[in-house]
Amino acid sequence: MAGERFNVGELEVFHLRASRFRLDGGTMFGVVPRPLWERASPPDGRNRVELACNCLLVRQPGQLTLIDTGCGQDWTPREQEIFAFDPNHSLSLALASLGVRPEEINRVILTHLHFDHAGGATHNQGGHPVPLFPNAAHLVQRREWEDALDGVSIMKSSYRPECLLPLEQRGLLHLLDGDTRLDGAMSLFVTGGHTAGHQGVRIAGGGRTLVYPGELLPTAAHLRLHWNMAYDMFPYQTLLSKRAFLAQAQAGNWTLALNHDPHRRWSRLVERAGGLEAEEAEI
Ligand SMILES: [Zn+2]
Repeated sequence: MAGERFNVGELEVFHLRASRFRLDGGTMFGVVPRPLWERASPPDGRNRVELACNCLLVRQPGQLTLIDTGCGQDWTPREQEIFAFDPNHSLSLALASLGVRPEEINRVILTHLHFDHAGGATHNQGGHPVPLFPNAAHLVQRREWEDALDGVSIMKSSYRPECLLPLEQRGLLHLLDGDTRLDGAMSLFVTGGHTAGHQGVRIAGGGRTLVYPGELLPTAAHLRLHWNMAYDMFPYQTLLSKRAFLAQAQAGNWTLALNHDPHRRWSRLVERAGGLEAEEAEI
């Protein structure tokens, strides 16, 4: 499938469009007035903007790593209507199109545990959520896990503890404390901002760097420093983290895989008169 694979040194990285759905545009752009954001992201008649859940699959010798899992498929008709899920996209379909079976995945990195990132880690079997990737270590920041289960977040309804606990019960949960180097090519960095334990993923090799910043930069429309989501627990920290991140990304000529961008798979940053913009990166 042309355009889906990005090589980083020895690693092959595949783009998986796990979901297409919609969320309220006002919430997606926080303090930004609608006349500004609607030009960048046109809303439908219910004020909802088009979004995707973009996940990555990283293939390296002896290891298949999945980064985020999208929304999953276990939705009531009412939830399907609210979020306008497109039934033509799912993580299972995307993996099947690459010939990958869920049992083959041995590592799942979760940026954080909101349903649109961790929902695809379990699926319904006989009325119970069970892990979809039974042979994978699921890597999550300890702080994120604790906040998700404690229900102290302003985004409490975005966490589904009943779908998270099976990961722990099956011994698949691997909690991390802060920035973590996984191997020579892959590392995790805590961003804060969206949630205290939110993390991004950096993949480097062969002179290239590919970064999955998670909710620090959900779509190309969020490149402006003040265009941040009302979903963020710590908005000012998002702004500071994003500013530092974008400076690094420009200096290092990084390619970005934006987790909710409905249009692009691989983005590179370009400086224009009106500010920083994203363009489709060469693969
Ligand atoms: Zn989130």
